[in-house]
Amino acid sequence: MQRETSPLTLTDLEFLPTTRLKGIGTKRQAALDSIGIRTVLDVLTHYPRRYIDRTKEAKIETLQVGEEGLVLAQILKVESIRTRNRKQLVSVDVTDGTGLLSLTFFNQPWRAKQLEEGTQVVIFGKLDRYQGKDRMTNPVVDLVGDRTGRIVPIYPQSGKAGLTTWEFAGWVTDALNKAKDRGFAEPLPLSIRRRHNLVDRATAFTNIHSAGSMEKIFEARRRLVFDELLRIQLLLVARKRSFETTSQGIAHTFEGKYISALFATLPFQLTQAQTRVIGEIRSDLQSQIPMHRLLQGDVGSGKTLVALAGLLAVIEGGKQGAIMAPTEVLAEQHYFGISELLTSFIVPDSTTLMGERDLRVALLTSRTKVKERNRLLEDLASGNIDLLVGTHSLIQEGVKFCDLGLTVIDEQHRFGVDQRAALRAKASGEITPDVLVMTATPIPRTAAMTVYGDLDVSILDELPPGRTPINTEWAVEEKGVWEKVQNEIANGKQAYVVCPLIEESEKMQVASAEQTHAALKENELLGMKVGLLHGRLSGSEKHEIMKAFRSGDTDVLISTTVIEVGVDVPNATTMVILDADRFGIAQLHQLRGRVGRGSAQSWCFLVSEAKTSDAEDRLTALVSTTDGFELAEIDLEIRGEGTIMGATQKGRNDLKIASLRRDKEWVSHAREAALHLLNSPDGLDGASLLVQELDLFFGHEETDYLFKS
Ligand code: ADP
Ligand code: MG
Repeated sequence: MQRETSPLTLTDLEFLPTTRLKGIGTKRQAALDSIGIRTVLDVLTHYPRRYIDRTKEAKIETLQVGEEGLVLAQILKVESIRTRNRKQLVSVDVTDGTGLLSLTFFNQPWRAKQLEEGTQVVIFGKLDRYQGKDRMTNPVVDLVGDRTGRIVPIYPQSGKAGLTTWEFAGWVTDALNKAKDRGFAEPLPLSIRRRHNLVDRATAFTNIHSAGSMEKIFEARRRLVFDELLRIQLLLVARKRSFETTSQGIAHTFEGKYISALFATLPFQLTQAQTRVIGEIRSDLQSQIPMHRLLQGDVGSGKTLVALAGLLAVIEGGKQGAIMAPTEVLAEQHYFGISELLTSFIVPDSTTLMGERDLRVALLTSRTKVKERNRLLEDLASGNIDLLVGTHSLIQEGVKFCDLGLTVIDEQHRFGVDQRAALRAKASGEITPDVLVMTATPIPRTAAMTVYGDLDVSILDELPPGRTPINTEWAVEEKGVWEKVQNEIANGKQAYVVCPLIEESEKMQVASAEQTHAALKENELLGMKVGLLHGRLSGSEKHEIMKAFRSGDTDVLISTTVIEVGVDVPNATTMVILDADRFGIAQLHQLRGRVGRGSAQSWCFLVSEAKTSDAEDRLTALVSTTDGFELAEIDLEIRGEGTIMGATQKGRNDLKIASLRRDKEWVSHAREAALHLLNSPDGLDGASLLVQELDLFFGHEETDYLFKS
């Protein structure tokens, strides 16, 4: 066999099993396998979780009570104790030669196994004194073995797999040594490295694992972060390009007459943000390239009107439009709201005597009766319906448009990518209709660049004027809350009560809502007209309940999260959310958005005894701001990116070192570099290594079009 001498690519490393490294036999291999480490590439990209800087080391002797410090010590004695109140306690004595320190771990019984007598550990904690002894309680402890060096990398440890951080360090060192002969192939053009001041890949891989200074480690990290983010941006930008060049869209023709006519009837002015976004949509519609735009706008920012402007432009051009809402309640609400706004609209129709007819809006949900549905589908296919509003029934078999021009998808987080695609396929022939996706759950800009990087994004970052900010209070006690509700009802206003979220099952959720309803009706809300809304009701029951609430026939609507999105009843001024700590930030913000829709002062009460600090942070955030974009940033801080990336990213875990939180500016840099590369005259032709890496990380299916340039 001929010996390879070319520099190692990531693909080469992916083909080397971990057993090629010193000290990895079948047993270690199996342990590594159990935590997803199968190849030398996996070993090299198993990055240190953090680093211990020994120059910051303190001596036990000189550490003061109340002071935090990093101590390198040897374990002398480990004891497992069960306290009188049946708590597990592990007590460990250590020394660094200058003094004795006793460590106490509460509720961490596994420490007894982890910490063996005679081992070297690095301890970080706050010193206190207990029964005359120097002590640290629940300190951070890392096993370091007898490794030397100024800076010691600490690898994510897996107690379960029985692997230690120094074993990892050994394997990484071995891998780096073995790679020395061939070196690492460099996929980035020098111009990009220069522009962003990035070290080469070999340096990055070496220094991230073992550098003499934190500065060198940061440089290495920056390069590796960039590589990860660049791969994602290349994929997204290329996907977008390929979609634009391979699909044939509709260049809609319209003057904007219908839009002007609609706006002339409104009792208010559009916000600047609305005007701007409508402009963006109009020019998308006029272009031959199919529109694939995401509209991010906070609750109440007026997305419906923006969508309607787009739909009217399309209808003016003689095409049909569709709006798809996530629930029947919302579809109906859109239908009634839009029908009212468009009552006096006339469209041309050559088949009628007068050459025109009323603009027709229709509603299609699972509640639509068979006979009506058949007639409706006929009219849709013959072009006698201009705008179809509905739920996902719109993407069912048998729904055929005559000439679909634009689909609006409201509150997209409930629809998957596949559903979006299905709707697109409703187009006749080879033509791709335009798509506008709206979401009321904004995510931060850089996160959007990653998650929705293959869409164009418009942002409605302005609320219509004249709204009184919602007063949000975190209530530990319910009593004052109900008094407030009673007051508001007495003043002719209405209120929502949201029942505790029970994730386990819908059945339990409904049962709990029914209980809450029964209890409140007999006690706190005695004498009021109280409705109950939950997911187990039939479509027509839900419809009746919403109708009663909208018309003011019920005072209080008790509900599960079915009212989460979009419901618009301006007379409702109070929202009570029970056990608010069970909800996430975005969900609470959505729920709160049901009030504050009129000009009267509104209240939102978050009832909760918040038991965790996470819950506390969430509730505090809600109290502190009503800005959805700001809350999105906080949410990202608290939960990390996992939840955002979650379902949208396929295949291997793409972000091993980059963080959408910490590396915000690098997301933008990576996008810029991706655009630069793809815009250059020969595209990715000169960057075959990058293409190979995309293939390696995202799979052939996802990257196919990269080769079809
Ligand atoms: P969302 O973005 O949450 O879907 P909607 O489109 O439901 O918001 O709009 C919320 C309310 O604000 C509606 O009652 C709508 O008529 C009103 N609205 C929309 N735009 C404006 C505006 N520019 N000025 C005043 N009210 C507006
Ligand atoms: Mg809406």
